[in-house]
Amino acid sequence: MKIIDFSTYSSIKIGPKVQVKIINNIQDYSEFAIIGGANNLLVSPTPPKLAMLGKKFDFIEEKDGFLYIGGATPSGKILSYARRRDIANFELMQKLPGTLGGMMRMNAGLKQWEIFNHLIAIKTGIGWIKKSDIVHGYRYANIKGTIYEAKFQIKNGFDFELLEMFKKLRDNQPNFPSAGSCFKNPKGNFAGKLLDESGLKGFKIGNMALSSSHANFLINLGGGTYKDAIAVIQEAKNRVFEKCNINLELEIKALIG
Ligand SMILES: Cc1cc2nc3c(=O)[nH]c(=O)nc-3n(C[C@H](O)[C@H](O)[C@H](O)COP(=O)(O)OP(=O)(O)OC[C@H]3O[C@@H](n4cnc5c(N)ncnc54)[C@H](O)[C@@H]3O)c2cc1C
Repeated sequence: MKIIDFSTYSSIKIGPKVQVKIINNIQDYSEFAIIGGANNLLVSPTPPKLAMLGKKFDFIEEKDGFLYIGGATPSGKILSYARRRDIANFELMQKLPGTLGGMMRMNAGLKQWEIFNHLIAIKTGIGWIKKSDIVHGYRYANIKGTIYEAKFQIKNGFDFELLEMFKKLRDNQPNFPSAGSCFKNPKGNFAGKLLDESGLKGFKIGNMALSSSHANFLINLGGGTYKDAIAVIQEAKNRVFEKCNINLELEIKALIG
């Protein structure tokens, strides 16, 4: 067990100080909600039982021509490894905070570049599951249970131009604490544009706001609370529905007990 203070650990700087179970062995953790780096999380004051992967699952290994990456491995470490070893297809991790487990569960990415694109298989408590057997799509992967490891193709040619492009695309992200994009883009539209059109740029309750530079970023102006975050989310959903008749879906995961 480890005590984690989510008001400092999570990227949005909200949440209680609670005990989190550290996973050191592969077994059944179905009674727990699994967390990674908490870069996409909003943890309520009364969260479910939480668990996270221990150091043993922070590794990168080349074996039989494939790349094996542990679920606890941070994106920055994977990106540095790929650059050093001249391996392609991990450039999207530039300024994308998270662990491999969280990235797989979210099918993290930007535009057409997604972490699933060059995946071979994922290891969960029931063993290895091939990519073709996992239903996945935009910011979504139907993976039950804990993700311990993933296997990728190794293709040579780390692309520095692509890296620069990701850097530029993410340069306009607000500097305040956030959990990345708050809502998913609805098919054929952009959540940020709908929020903007609904007059929600800069909309604020307490110290939680939709950024005035990028409306789809729910930001913490300092000391923002879970209650205010949920109130901003709810009001934004209501207003976009009234104005545009579109039901915005949360990209951020709220962990409520
Ligand atoms: C500034 C900023 C920019 C961002 N930009 C992007 C972006 O461009 N594209 C993008 O896709 N995302 C972006 N994000 C969101 C975030 O980086 C990704 O969602 C990332 O994948 C989260 O990883 P994590 O380890 O922090 O997961 P967490 O936030 O801890 O968890 C996310 C989800 O994954 C699950 N999970 C975590 N680890 C495991 C595991 N080992 N096994 C099973 N389930 C697990 C959790 O239960 C939860 O449902 C951004 C976030 C921030 C703060």
